Amino acid sequence: MAEAIVTRDGHVFEASSSDTPYPVFDPQVKRIIDRANPQEEWHGHCALPRAIEDALTQNPDWTIDRFRGASVGAARIAPEGSRRHGEYVGPCRSCLPLFDELELRRAI
Ligand SMILES: [Zn+2]
Repeated sequence: MAEAIVTRDGHVFEASSSDTPYPVFDPQVKRIIDRANPQEEWHGHCALPRAIEDALTQNPDWTIDRFRGASVGAARIAPEGSRRHGEYVGPCRSCLPLFDELELRRAI
């Protein structure tokens, strides 16, 4: 899975779930996703929370509120030529609280 998030003021952050061998650790991100019930087996390893965490790490003066109303696009990464490559994928159950809390918009 690859995920891109675009803040309302036009900052773009991308991540891939293969970049996430360790779970998300940013307390602002964790506080939100840890509300998910039920949580997925891969809880904390998704590209979306990783992209937000990376952005917060790169911009220490930001808070997670910077992502309120941001647009999110996700695409499946499948073998080259596969019909499923680039297919839109909605958030998993562990990521849904991010959509609720931050009023994220799905860009398809
Ligand atoms: Zn997820």
